[in-house]
Amino acid sequence: MEEKPKSVADIDFFTRQILDEKGFAFMWVYKPLCPECGKARLKKLKKRDKIYVCSECNKSFEKNQYDDLLKVNLEYTCPICEKKSEFFDKWVKPSNKKSTIVLKFECNNCHSKLKVYRMSKKKK
Ligand SMILES: [Zn+2]
Ligand SMILES: [Zn+2]
Repeated sequence: MEEKPKSVADIDFFTRQILDEKGFAFMWVYKPLCPECGKARLKKLKKRDKIYVCSECNKSFEKNQYDDLLKVNLEYTCPICEKKSEFFDKWVKPSNKKSTIVLKFECNNCHSKLKVYRMSKKKK
């Protein structure tokens, strides 16, 4: 588990949301540290760039290399058993930008299958 983010500039993705009324999720994914030098986080220089660059060693990385380094941090309250817990793992970024589910995980305690959505879920 990584520290909670202090700056949005270091963050690739984050969301806070209610899970099915009784639950809660706070999820954050850092821009990965450069695997070459470990001194800076990989960033795009311009929004439209396809390549991510380390500001310390100037190495550049393709999107798939960058995506492979992403890790998800999740603090949650399970909506089924109502226990608080944490989850930390490799993050498979949804390949489709329109996909509404950003994370599927299993509660450590009751093993319910849970989902985190891109935006707070609207009532059905
Ligand atoms: Zn570097
Ligand atoms: Zn649970």
